[in-house]
Amino acid sequence: MKTENIFDQLENNQLLEIALQYGTPLYVYHGEKIEAQVAQLKNAFRETTVRIKYACKALNNINILRLLRNAGAGVDAVSIHEVHLALKAGFTPDEILFTPNGVSFEEIKAGVDAGVHINIDNISMLERFGHTYGNSVPCCIRLNPHIVAGGNIHIQTGHIDSKFGISIHQLRHVLRIVKSEKINVSGLHMHTGSDILDAEVFIRGAELLFEAAEDFPDLQFIDFGSGFKVAYKEDDVTTDVKELGKALTERFNEFCLRYGKKLELWFEPGKFLVSEAGVLLVKVNVVKQTTATVFAGVDSGQNHLIRPMFYDAYHHIVNISNPEGTPRIYTVVGYICETDTFGWDRKLNEVREGDTLAIKNAGAYGYTMSNNYNARPRPAEVLVYKGKVQLIRKAETLDDIMRNMVEVEL
Ligand SMILES: *Cc1c(COP(=O)(O)O)cnc(C)c1O
Repeated sequence: MKTENIFDQLENNQLLEIALQYGTPLYVYHGEKIEAQVAQLKNAFRETTVRIKYACKALNNINILRLLRNAGAGVDAVSIHEVHLALKAGFTPDEILFTPNGVSFEEIKAGVDAGVHINIDNISMLERFGHTYGNSVPCCIRLNPHIVAGGNIHIQTGHIDSKFGISIHQLRHVLRIVKSEKINVSGLHMHTGSDILDAEVFIRGAELLFEAAEDFPDLQFIDFGSGFKVAYKEDDVTTDVKELGKALTERFNEFCLRYGKKLELWFEPGKFLVSEAGVLLVKVNVVKQTTATVFAGVDSGQNHLIRPMFYDAYHHIVNISNPEGTPRIYTVVGYICETDTFGWDRKLNEVREGDTLAIKNAGAYGYTMSNNYNARPRPAEVLVYKGKVQLIRKAETLDDIMRNMVEVEL
């Protein structure tokens, strides 16, 4: 689906004012945009019992978690720390799904102690889980249906070599363990990675889960993970949520009839809910003409937004200080002592030193993947919501960077 007007969330002037008040670099999130994304997804699946478990690794500020809870979402947590953060934000254990990969059994036990839903993603842990809890604690099983539909190889998790999930080809082995330990399997799960969600391919994965489900009589939900594509560029193809809603609802309801029980349909989107709601505001420190290009060097870098360098991700960049300026070609780079390019050969309205640039789609995997490389503090976060602009995280200082350093006698 082609999205119109994808970059219309916050007005340039408002962003400029916010940059002036709070300084740069700065993450700014738009609360209503997040709510609208939740509503869009719920609406597309209104003919089923849909539950949205927000994958909070995308953006985990406690205020954003609360906003999502008020909007009716639960949480998908991938570490015990995310579980505890979600509890602190006010989610009940029942609203939280713990989907770790490669963690110790102790961490899974801590999840059980916290009372959240447990999603098990390998056979060894399933055996230990059954051995320890028998049928006294339900669990969900993460299957890998091995569906892949293009997209960025760095963020796919469904391919044959993936470390995620239990291969659907090992289903017999899974069933043997479930039967002998009498494990109460309350959910089946798949998550094949980001940016792959074409309705048709997705339905293929769903059909495989429906087939597998016939062997699990105690199910309460089927979790289809995420994979929703959002537009990063003006002409990007995105997941048509409405079309998916229609197609999957039909298959899901048919399946429930066959299964003999109405199950819940779960999703765990991260990017879809928060990506477009966020921008990273940066200031141009230097405009540098070289023989090959003109660099716009900004007061941020891959330490604050790693996606362009890590995933080769495209993030649209706009000069909000000079929207009427003559468009020219720039390479926008950070201040880190590494090659940290935000965007090559971008057409921006003429960039002057001191201008503020807005890097779009920075809501997901922006702040949460930031770090202190080069001893650079992480930026502040601001939420625009219900007509108010509020600081929701202070910028770090050198003290924060030194907090856990232990100075010893040498
Ligand atoms: C990261 C993750 C998600 C969210 O993926 P998005 O592409 O951000 O929607 C969902 N489920 C699991 C298990 C994840 O690890």
